[in-house]
Amino acid sequence: MVIDIHAHANYYGLTCEKLIENMDQYGIDKAWLLTLETPDPEYAYSYHKCTFVTKDGPIPFSTSIGFQDPDHRFILGYGPDPRKPDSIYRMEAAIDLYNVKVYGEIMLRMMYDNLDAIRMFRFCGKRKIPVIVELKYGIEGESQTPFTDFWYGGGIEVFERALRQCPDTIFFGHGAGFWAHISGDDRYDKENYPTGPIVPGGKLIELMRRYDNLYLDLSAGSGLNAMKRDLSFTKEFLDEFQDRACYGRDFIDNAHQEFLNSLGLKQEIMDKIYYQNAIKLIPLD
Ligand SMILES: [Zn+2]
Repeated sequence: MVIDIHAHANYYGLTCEKLIENMDQYGIDKAWLLTLETPDPEYAYSYHKCTFVTKDGPIPFSTSIGFQDPDHRFILGYGPDPRKPDSIYRMEAAIDLYNVKVYGEIMLRMMYDNLDAIRMFRFCGKRKIPVIVELKYGIEGESQTPFTDFWYGGGIEVFERALRQCPDTIFFGHGAGFWAHISGDDRYDKENYPTGPIVPGGKLIELMRRYDNLYLDLSAGSGLNAMKRDLSFTKEFLDEFQDRACYGRDFIDNAHQEFLNSLGLKQEIMDKIYYQNAIKLIPLD
C-alpha cells in the first residue's frame, strides 16, 4: 500500500477524476488532501501557475469537499488560518461534519508560536489531528517584486517553541525552511534548496531527537532536495527516524517514489514510510 500524505485538490489542473488516474498511474492508494488557505497577499503569485486561486486562498476547503470518491481514496485535511477568531469552530465543523483528519497545511506569514496558533495546535492535539506546517525563510532576491519575500512560520526556533508548547500534538515539518536544517551549515536563510554534503549538527536532527511529536513530511522539492544531498547520510537518517517519516508528493509526478525506491532501504522501513506511519496516525476507516 502507498499513502501520499501531501496532496491537493485541483492542483496542476487535476480534477478529482484526473487525480485518481494520476494516483493509479503511480500505485498510490490513498492521499491526504490538504488545503492552502493562505490569505492574499501572503502567498507567492507563482501559485497562479498551479491552481485557480480564490478569495479563500490558493486551495480552499470548498474545493476539497468536491473531491468525492466512492472508494474513499481521499483523507481530507483543512487548515483554517488560526488568526481568524472563528477558526476553531470551522475546524471543529470540518472534523465533525466532513470527517477531516488533518490540520493543514498552513503556510502563513505568522510566527507559529502565535497564541492563536498554539490554541489551534492544542485543540488539534486533543482531537488527535496531526498538523502540517510549511516553514520558509524569506530569501533575498527570490521575488520579482521589490521588498516582497515570502516567509512562513518565523524560523526553526519559533517552530521549536510550538513543538515544546504542544507536546500532545503531532507536527509534520514541511517546506524549505524546515528541510534546509537537515544540515548544520548557514545556508538555510540564503537559498531555498541548498545542495552538497550534509554538515553535522543540523537543527532538524536535533529537533527530531528531542521531540517525539515531530514527524517528517518528505514531500515537495524541499524534502526531495534534502534527501538527495548525501545518500549515505539519508539512509542513516531514514533508518534512525523510520517511525516518523512519511511519503508525500505535494506534486503530481513520481520523483519521490523513484528516489526512495533507489535507496536500497529494508522493506520494513519502506513499508513504514509508504503507509504504516500514516495509518498509525490516521487509521483507515
Ligand atoms: Zn502543499
